[in-house]
Amino acid sequence: MTSQTGRQIDTVMQESRLFPPRPSFSDKARIKSLAEYEALWNKAAADPANFWGELAREELHWFEPFTEALNWKEPFAEWFVGGKTNASYNCLDAQVAAGQGDRVAILWEGEPGDSRQLTYAELHREVSKFANCLKSLGVGEGDVVSIYMPMVPELAIAMLACARIGAIHSVIFAGFSAEAIADRNNDAQAKVQITADAAWRRGKALPLKQTVDEALAKSPSVEHCIVLNRVNEAVEMKSGRDHWWRDLMAKASDDCPATPLDSEAPLFILYTSGSTGKPKGIKHTTAGYNLFAKKTFQWVFDHREDDVFWCTADCGWVTGHSYVVYGPLSAGATCLMYEGAPNFPDEGRFWEIVEKYKVSIFYTAPTAIRAFIKWGDEHVEKHDLSSLRLLGTVGEGINPEAWMWYHKKIGGERCPIVDTWWQTETGGIMMSPLPGAIPTKPGSCTKPLPGIIPEIVDESGKLVGANQGGWLTIAHPWPGMLRGIWGDDDRYKEVYWSKVQGKYLAGDNARCDDDGYYWIMGRIDDVLNVSGHRLSTIEIESALVSHPNVAEAAAVGRPDDLKGEAVAVFVTLKNVEPSDELRSALKQHVRKEIGALAQPDDIRFTNSLPKTRSGKIMRRLLKDIAAGKETVGDTTTLEDYTVLASLREEE
Ligand code: ATP
Ligand code: MG
Repeated sequence: MTSQTGRQIDTVMQESRLFPPRPSFSDKARIKSLAEYEALWNKAAADPANFWGELAREELHWFEPFTEALNWKEPFAEWFVGGKTNASYNCLDAQVAAGQGDRVAILWEGEPGDSRQLTYAELHREVSKFANCLKSLGVGEGDVVSIYMPMVPELAIAMLACARIGAIHSVIFAGFSAEAIADRNNDAQAKVQITADAAWRRGKALPLKQTVDEALAKSPSVEHCIVLNRVNEAVEMKSGRDHWWRDLMAKASDDCPATPLDSEAPLFILYTSGSTGKPKGIKHTTAGYNLFAKKTFQWVFDHREDDVFWCTADCGWVTGHSYVVYGPLSAGATCLMYEGAPNFPDEGRFWEIVEKYKVSIFYTAPTAIRAFIKWGDEHVEKHDLSSLRLLGTVGEGINPEAWMWYHKKIGGERCPIVDTWWQTETGGIMMSPLPGAIPTKPGSCTKPLPGIIPEIVDESGKLVGANQGGWLTIAHPWPGMLRGIWGDDDRYKEVYWSKVQGKYLAGDNARCDDDGYYWIMGRIDDVLNVSGHRLSTIEIESALVSHPNVAEAAAVGRPDDLKGEAVAVFVTLKNVEPSDELRSALKQHVRKEIGALAQPDDIRFTNSLPKTRSGKIMRRLLKDIAAGKETVGDTTTLEDYTVLASLREEE
């Protein structure tokens, strides 16, 4: 624990539990042992471009072969140069051609309990038809299509139809405001908007078309709007601009061959969730992204033919792009999609779905797991979860105690947990246990995937030693990496490539322990500096969450004359009312768990924490509140504005 330079981040957390994969799991896994993983990782690291090049030839369909695996002109990468492929072809035609047309591609459950399923052949037909609808409205290669839809199969159909004809989709989570849609539409210069009349949310119809109408009044580039009827809400249809989905589909032919697209043809733009500032339009391209989504899906979820895979993320987030649509479908998986809220009609809904569809792989976010814990075990215990064989998490660090609950209550102590670290920018999972090979430690995303080379550096770019926290960087380009920020090369260079020479700066802090396991410590901007010691948010939060009365916690620094920064924490409770006794007990608890240095100076109890719409805690807003400042910066991604107001009132 050296903090003399102030450049590293001190670790205070201790976690020594280790969970090796069970032999019955490893025996059938794609990668069966640590030694096998290490051999593969070493092979890839010796020549990453060639490693990915070989995989690309095997895993994707090529209309024209590529001539070079990687052309790297820092910070701009081109993967599989000169090749022509199509992501929609790789997801659909390739499965049909392999005789898998009758396999279920999408199993869908609507919030009101309706359900549908689409085989690969059916999905292929629907996507082809809808691609023709888009063409009939003048959409072609390079045009941007903005999608604002509920989690219904048509959302995946719309994405794949764009991919089929080389149009670029920009999916906007169907909870964002008209303002946020208009901002994104204008930034991307979207030509067509796709939406639905409304979405089901906890039994109520959430109007979408009405919000879109407001957005389109401020999105002059959008010429047409396609509207799916999901809920039967009355909507206004502007003649000439607005078209019903079913009317266009009724006239469309189901013959639409996939366009051979350049490897580097943009596939989509996705605006990040905005935990740290103004959302960025992250650009991903065709071949590299597609390969990365497919391979990471196969490695991390150890996919087998009879699996039912459920990723609970909305397609409005990158997780939905890579692990609801492109990854699973290009691997020929059966993927479950659920439209609604996890607590409707009751808090057992997810487990009811797992039981009903015999889900075998379940992938969700720590924010959901913390909610399940808070809601109580009785909702879980009512259902048969014996079909599950593998669990995953993504989006934030998972506190070890939440991990243990997930392991015991959902996984029945038999399912490995893959804690997957990645970002919108990385396109797919970067670090995660391979479930048959890598023993897990609660709270660690364990090791990098083959072809991924993480390095932890200090602020001068020097590698730091084991157990010293620093900036997480990626030392070699990988196929799924972002190709830029839409329309803003300067911001791309500045954010990811300017602070550390020659390496991708992820924006998170991490440390690597003596066993080569990585521990994400929080975001660079969120580090606390207490009396010259730089402390990680996640470690303090995890200590709090290990107390039986704490449901969630967020730690931030507050300016302090003596210590530089004081530790301020915001805590939501379970099963008890706030009290001064509890406040002192929590201070003692953190002191005992991780030491005096991290003991909170301020503890504020609150009913909820400010989160992005994808469920991530927005610490930068809490930092302003702790310092008694006005909130600055972008708040359009805040899920619930009343949370901020009530936090201020509680001051
Ligand atoms: P913005 O970049 O606009 O602030 P964001 O970073 O929240 O938004 P995402 O790309 O969705 O947008 O999230 C990636 C971030 O989420 C990572 O940089 C990391 O901070 C966090 N994260 C994701 N998975 C994990 C994980 N398994 N463990 C710890 N942190 C994670
Ligand atoms: Mg980010």
